[in-house]
Amino acid sequence: MTRIDDLPIRDELRGQSPYGAPQLHVPVLLNTNENPYPLPDELVDRIAERVAEAARQLNRYPDRDAVELRTKLADYLSATGGVELATGQVWAANGSNEVLQQLLQAFGGPGRSALGFDPSYSMHALIARGTGTEWISGPRRADFSIDLDAALAAIAEHRPNVVFLCSPNNPTGTALDGSVVEAVYEAAQAARPSLVIVDEAYVEFSHHASLLTLLEGRPNLVVSRTMSKAFGAAGLRLGYLAADPAVVDAVQLVRLPYHLSAVTQATALACLEHTGTLLGYVAELKAQRDRLVGELRGMGCEVTESDANFVQFGRFEDTRAVWQAILDRGVLVRDNGVPGMLRVTAGTDAENTAFLDAMRAVLKEMQ
Ligand code: PMP
Repeated sequence: MTRIDDLPIRDELRGQSPYGAPQLHVPVLLNTNENPYPLPDELVDRIAERVAEAARQLNRYPDRDAVELRTKLADYLSATGGVELATGQVWAANGSNEVLQQLLQAFGGPGRSALGFDPSYSMHALIARGTGTEWISGPRRADFSIDLDAALAAIAEHRPNVVFLCSPNNPTGTALDGSVVEAVYEAAQAARPSLVIVDEAYVEFSHHASLLTLLEGRPNLVVSRTMSKAFGAAGLRLGYLAADPAVVDAVQLVRLPYHLSAVTQATALACLEHTGTLLGYVAELKAQRDRLVGELRGMGCEVTESDANFVQFGRFEDTRAVWQAILDRGVLVRDNGVPGMLRVTAGTDAENTAFLDAMRAVLKEMQ
């Protein structure tokens, strides 16, 4: 049997495993930060209509620049982000993972480096690796916040070409103050002009406002977003960014032509007609998130303050055993490899009750 390592594959990919949370069939799935609510019927009907329209022209390539979609995304950001954004400041791709990959293709690459503050979203490092960009793991405090002095020192020392910030951060749930982003941006420009990416995949769930307001006057700052979380459309694969129009021009140098299918564009446009309904679930999920924080603390767990639709909790001596014991009760949560900690996504009221009941039983058993 041929194994990967028998192939003439790039050296840095030897011995690596692909990214991916286990996709197990259990009753309660709280492991990938999805939105638990299916799309409402009227939206499903509207998607069918728009996709049928698009299907009539599937013999043609789609709008390569996705102008209508980017305009609607710019409208959404302008309506909710506290800034006026134009179509030319917004770019879209198949999930924010692809947005981040395109950014690293354009601004990272062989001989260049990217720095992030771990633990954070592990795909940042993996996308760096996949694009031949050296990954530098910057520090966090024990409470998972960013130590600004240590962050600035790491940037001065390593002079990365790209800096990743993530707010709210996955897997910890912690959000960043605008002043931290401003200081990191200044330091990254002083070390060498570098691109600073703020991954705001979960920002709609935050107690804090979006950092989009920092874009003005900062041409090397990018904010990435997704329709996978608050919009409840993870299966759609639609991510986007807001930045200076020059950054949007730069990613067009590396994007594959027609990367966003006509079906994707039609579906995303239908979802954007229903932002009111979709985002209506956000308030409920925030309340459920706060419930998880409160009840887990009540059980004596250490819980990291959360601005996202998930909660990091611990500390466990044998994290794997706790993860397995919860799974044995039909609830799948996530072990992100943060020592002593697990992460649970805020689901529906019933799902969260099932998780909390499982936790109470597990903790009792382990006493
Ligand atoms: N950024 C963060 C912080 C995430 O947690 C995720 C999804 N887990 C993504 C980006 C990617 O999401 P998508 O590609 O679905 O937009």
